[in-house]
Amino acid sequence: MLKNLKDPEIIEKIKKIKLAIFDVDGILTDGKIYWISNDQTEPGRAFHVIDGYGLALLARAKFPTAVITAAKSVMVRRRLEFLGITEIYMGSEDKLSSYEKLLAQYSLKDEDVSFMADDLFDVPVLKKVGLSVTVPHASDWVKSHCHAVSSLPGGQGAAREFIDLIREANKIGPEYQ
Ligand SMILES: [Mg+2]
Repeated sequence: MLKNLKDPEIIEKIKKIKLAIFDVDGILTDGKIYWISNDQTEPGRAFHVIDGYGLALLARAKFPTAVITAAKSVMVRRRLEFLGITEIYMGSEDKLSSYEKLLAQYSLKDEDVSFMADDLFDVPVLKKVGLSVTVPHASDWVKSHCHAVSSLPGGQGAAREFIDLIREANKIGPEYQ
C-alpha cells in the first residue's frame, strides 16, 4: 500500500537508510528532454535548484548518496559532480547490476538502502530496497512496487521533499547546527 512520505511507518524506514539512490529523468528532472537544435550532442534537461541544494547538503555531510540513470550524459554528470555526488552510474537500463555494485562497495544490505525512481526498468531495484519512493506521475504498476510517493512532482521538489526527511532523521543541514 503506497504511503505518503510523512507516514510514521515511512519515517521509521527513513531513519534506517544508510545509502540514498536517485534516478535522474523524472526524479531530479520533470522527465522532459529538450532537442532544440541540430547541433546538440545530447538533449537538454532542467534541474530544480531546490533538489540540487538538498543533494549538496547530503554530499557535504558525507551521507552516502548515489545516482543510477539509464541516461548517458556529460551534462548530467557535470551537474551531479558540481553538487558533490561522486557515485554516478550511467547509461544502462540494467540498474540492478549498478545497485549490487553499490551494495558491495558500501557493505550494505537491501534494507539499508532507498531508491527514488519512476519508470518500468527501475522496478527490479525498487523491489529490493528497504525503502522505495516514487513520484505522482509514475504508472500504477511502478507505484505498486513502491512504499511511498512524494507529494511534489518529479523535478520540482520531489527529491528535496524526501531528502529533507533524510536530513531530519540524520540532523543534516543548517537548521540542525
Ligand atoms: Mg526515471
